[in-house]
Amino acid sequence: MKYIFVTGGVVSSLGKGLAAASLGTLLERRGLKVVLQKLDPYLNVDPGTMNPFQHGEVYVLADGAETDLDLGHYERFTNCVLTRSNNLTSGQVYETVLAKERRGDYLGKTVQVIPHVTDEIKARIREVGENSGGDILITEIGGTTGDIEGLPFLEAIRQFILEVGSENAIIMHVTLVPFIKAAGELKTKPTQQSIAKLREIGLQPQVLICRTEMPLIKEVREKLALFCNVPLDAVVEAGDVAHTIYEAPLNLQAEGLDVTVCRLLHLKTHAPDMTDWKKYVNRLISPKKRVKVAIVGKYIELQDAYKSIYESLTHAGASLDCGIDLVLVDAESIENEGAEKYLRGVAGVVIPGGFGDRGVEGKIKAVRFARESRTPFLGLCLGMQVATIEFARHVCGLEGANSTEFDANTPHPVISMLEEQKDVTDKGGSMRLGTWPTKIKEGTLAYQVYGKKEVPERHRHRYEFNIKFREALESQGLVISGTSPDGDLVELVELKGHPWFIACQYHPEFQSKPNLPHPLFRGFISATLAHED
Ligand code: GLN
Repeated sequence: MKYIFVTGGVVSSLGKGLAAASLGTLLERRGLKVVLQKLDPYLNVDPGTMNPFQHGEVYVLADGAETDLDLGHYERFTNCVLTRSNNLTSGQVYETVLAKERRGDYLGKTVQVIPHVTDEIKARIREVGENSGGDILITEIGGTTGDIEGLPFLEAIRQFILEVGSENAIIMHVTLVPFIKAAGELKTKPTQQSIAKLREIGLQPQVLICRTEMPLIKEVREKLALFCNVPLDAVVEAGDVAHTIYEAPLNLQAEGLDVTVCRLLHLKTHAPDMTDWKKYVNRLISPKKRVKVAIVGKYIELQDAYKSIYESLTHAGASLDCGIDLVLVDAESIENEGAEKYLRGVAGVVIPGGFGDRGVEGKIKAVRFARESRTPFLGLCLGMQVATIEFARHVCGLEGANSTEFDANTPHPVISMLEEQKDVTDKGGSMRLGTWPTKIKEGTLAYQVYGKKEVPERHRHRYEFNIKFREALESQGLVISGTSPDGDLVELVELKGHPWFIACQYHPEFQSKPNLPHPLFRGFISATLAHED
């Protein structure tokens, strides 16, 4: 097993996750079995309880783990199968160490960061590496060198590399090489200093990924190699991608990153086959047509809150040779000013998931607009719940219909919590999470889109369609096209007579890949194209 640790220096948001994932793409296409893992230094046990302003999207794995959005990059860029163990936080490390301490596992000893915390971190890296049956584990360490909370992770890596040997483990440091306009020069000092910080704790990176706005000229490369003590071919330029993040693996390949990494780790492989990836990227860059798709959410000003949804739309578009022009609409603006102003002229409307009542009435107005104007509609999780509420209120005449999440005293709780969930008071990890099968009814739009009777889909929600209202809603034209296998939980709804209206209780956006778009997104984009025509 070979190990690559990815660290970050100078500033955050350099795209470490993307660099790690892109390296994964290249190595996988060299015939190696790659696994990726993220270590997050914060003290939350998982990001499930953080809001999108703090953390961006919470990415849900098949096993129900609520994880960092970088794991989304890993799954989209490689074929690796991720589980709960692939995202370790300081919160989990301390939770385990403290449980052991209380149990008496360290009886008589003082429990310390070194060795007890670092042992726990190393065990987790080794566990993921060895259980994966892979050839290479790429482990990304969240945060920036110099952060106090990252130190135990870096120390654990130092020990780990010593244990497995430097021919089996390397550090790839993602750093910023800023261009100073007044001087007309790229500056290497911040990188030198972040490397110095790593050396202080006994770490020497072997590869530098240099994020830069200007080409790294020879002199700058030589200086970085000399001062940072890395081979010249391991100084890798990583400029901003011109069009799409999916160019990143190709750009890094052009810089010879995969060749250098294989040399450093003594791996003999064939050259990577990137043919289909290149084709995919070309389709993204110059599509034959374009459509306008609105996303009505409450975190639209954040780049990361709906990441997987944006990616899924891109994947679906690419498969239809169609570029997506996103129209990001704040649900609260619709609440105040109506849907017409913001949604007229779009070819499709997506309502993403969400928690809490802010913006909900705006989302309900957006659904009404899509239903009445026969605009293709895709509702995801909360998107299905608001679609149900809208239908109940405006088609079935159930005035005041709502979810009990937003109105505990609603006369018509069309979305509510299951009895067995009501006693759960913990907020962390207490939702219906992870993959559950959905049974699809033949003859429905969903069946046409999936072409299958049963599909596994990932969930993350507390509230459910209230089955007591099933008949009332169905009798007015709501089609329940997917349920749990026992029929008790509603998973998919659609509208009789509407050209394309599907809302699901789950999150299809967590299962879409560049060359393998999710059927719901693909179906939705094809409907938007038909709508334009
Ligand atoms: N807030 C809703 C629930 O808990 C929807 C959750 C979501 O959209 N992920 O059921």
